[in-house]
Amino acid sequence: MDMKLSRRGFLKGAGAGVAGTTLGAFGFGDIETAYAAAIRPFKLANTVETRNTCTYCSVACGIILYSKGDLRKGEKAEITHIEGDADHPTNRGTLCPKGAALLDTVRSATRLKHPMLRRAGSDKFEQVTWDEALDKIARAMKDDRDANFIAKNKDGTTVNRWLTAGFLAASATTNETAFATYKVVRSTGILAFDNQARV
Ligand code: SF4
Repeated sequence: MDMKLSRRGFLKGAGAGVAGTTLGAFGFGDIETAYAAAIRPFKLANTVETRNTCTYCSVACGIILYSKGDLRKGEKAEITHIEGDADHPTNRGTLCPKGAALLDTVRSATRLKHPMLRRAGSDKFEQVTWDEALDKIARAMKDDRDANFIAKNKDGTTVNRWLTAGFLAASATTNETAFATYKVVRSTGILAFDNQARV
């Protein structure tokens, strides 16, 4: 959404206008011009709003990302500001210190943006495609499950356990995604299942 003139920007401009006009009435025309030029433009003007969810914990607070640059025009979009979503029922616009510092997370030099793989025998991680990463994970899971799945315990009772693999999911999802994730993971027999909210 383009924000041409916010309430805050209007008040700031109106206040500056009154001050500048008053100076002008006293014969300080140049000062009026310089004062008006010194007003910083409202930082959210001409930004695009994108609603999202804080990535940190299972509270899953709603956030608004403000960005500049239109991807549809081939421009590089850059997030310039993040704040709590006042319309979100969970947090009503508030954020804890971790959520309030999300912009630093986005801009962190160590932020992981792509799947990385350290091949056998190598001492370096290299970037791979999502297709390669997912194929490799699926292959490893299938091989491990085939080798270690426990269908019955020593008493002959059906247990359907897979104890040699674990699954770490993310909490910043919808209820529906969490439900589907839970069903898929439990259907494999995995017992060690958690999410990052407890890490
Ligand atoms: S880390 Fe803070 S802002 Fe983020 S979801 Fe949790 S409580 Fe909300």
